[in-house]
Amino acid sequence: MSQARRVLILGGGLAGLSFAIAIATENPELEITLLEAQPFEAGTPNPLDTRGSALNLHSVTLLERWGLWSEMATRLGAIRDIHVSHRGHFGSALMTAEDLGVPALGYVAENHELGRCLLERAQALGVDVRAPVRCAAIDAKVPSPVVITSDGEQMDADLVLIAAGVSSDWFQALGIEVKERSVGNHAIVFNASFSGEQRGRAFERFTANGPLAVLPLPSLTRNEQRFNVVWSVPDKEVDSLTAMGEDLFRTRFQDVFGWRLGAVQAVGQRSRWPLVRRAASELFRSGFLLVGNAAHTLHPVAGQGLNLSLREAALLAETLTVCRNDEQPLAALGNLKGYLNQVSAEQHFVTQSTDTLATLFDHRGPVLDAPRNASLTLLDLVPFARARVASVGTGRRYG
Ligand SMILES: Cc1cc2nc3c(=O)[nH]c(=O)nc-3n(C[C@H](O)[C@H](O)[C@H](O)COP(=O)(O)OP(=O)(O)OC[C@H]3O[C@@H](n4cnc5c(N)ncnc54)[C@H](O)[C@@H]3O)c2cc1C
Repeated sequence: MSQARRVLILGGGLAGLSFAIAIATENPELEITLLEAQPFEAGTPNPLDTRGSALNLHSVTLLERWGLWSEMATRLGAIRDIHVSHRGHFGSALMTAEDLGVPALGYVAENHELGRCLLERAQALGVDVRAPVRCAAIDAKVPSPVVITSDGEQMDADLVLIAAGVSSDWFQALGIEVKERSVGNHAIVFNASFSGEQRGRAFERFTANGPLAVLPLPSLTRNEQRFNVVWSVPDKEVDSLTAMGEDLFRTRFQDVFGWRLGAVQAVGQRSRWPLVRRAASELFRSGFLLVGNAAHTLHPVAGQGLNLSLREAALLAETLTVCRNDEQPLAALGNLKGYLNQVSAEQHFVTQSTDTLATLFDHRGPVLDAPRNASLTLLDLVPFARARVASVGTGRRYG
């Protein structure tokens, strides 16, 4: 039997790099090559134009295990509590880290910082990172998986991870179906600064158009406080809201978010994301394993896509260790079965939870017929919903 030795990763986004690090940490004997189509960006964007990711506590333990925590810890915004409210209704709920007996409910990383730390760590662990090198084609018909780069190089591997984001090309090439569900909304994402101060507080506000998440970014200076905003809006409003002049946009946003942080002082560049949930019907075929957004794209408002990928990266690394110790091939379906079953179950759980969160208070959601006045402190009154939000937010289910 041939010894499995090389893992090839297509895509150097946050998921691809995390998988490379997880596998390299647990399996230093494996040769890992990562191809990224774009050059890695250097430098720091304008503070109001960065993108953020909320990391749950399980993700933090993984960053520690992979030797990233000391580098990242000072660059994260800690979420000490989450304020939950429902637009047009009195009352709110406050979930605190103290309630759950943890130092923070989660942390917010800026993607450019997280990406840079992941890249440096992958390289330090000996991952052969090649960029810009694009995978132009894959061949799933030969005994072991083959990748052809845009330079015409043919690369074979014992296992190929497709971490190249959402593109129908991969699914077509592998003959895998994609299940897609649109919620008819877009997320507008931007950073904002306010006149008031609430250190370490995140806000989740439910509106008739879906949720609005306002997350505390790490402070760059003592008196500065920035927040990352993910705002669900109906598809028909996204063009006008993204094209609108800044003054009018600030007024519109203030009207929806309210005055919990005082006046909206400045907003950064706005980006738009269709709220489409995609999931591959199969994760593995012929030596190719779909991971990250290629495997599942979730509603961004619950901030779970990357958290799920980090968890999966840890699981895959453990699975490959077992294959290696037992001298089994890495890409045999039987050897990956435990990983695939567990990952599918967790993807199902997180997808259901984030869907529930995304529609909890909208006109299509499960509380449509609840007496509206009873929505006073709804999450306080509905222990089930509160527990669900907490478990999704902190990743405790995986603890
Ligand atoms: C608005 C928004 C907010 C979010 N907030 C959170 C959050 O708070 N918490 C959280 O956990 N998750 C969050 N997510 C999800 C998270 O951002 C993603 O799950 C995460 O970035 C992983 O993406 P990825 O690496 O799989 O894909 P991508 O980021 O799409 O990366 C794919 C990479 O593959 C490369 N590539 C593409 N084609 C090829 C090719 N042919 N050859 C080689 N390389 C190729 C691309 O250049 C790219 O670098 C959010 C998502 C969005 C949209």
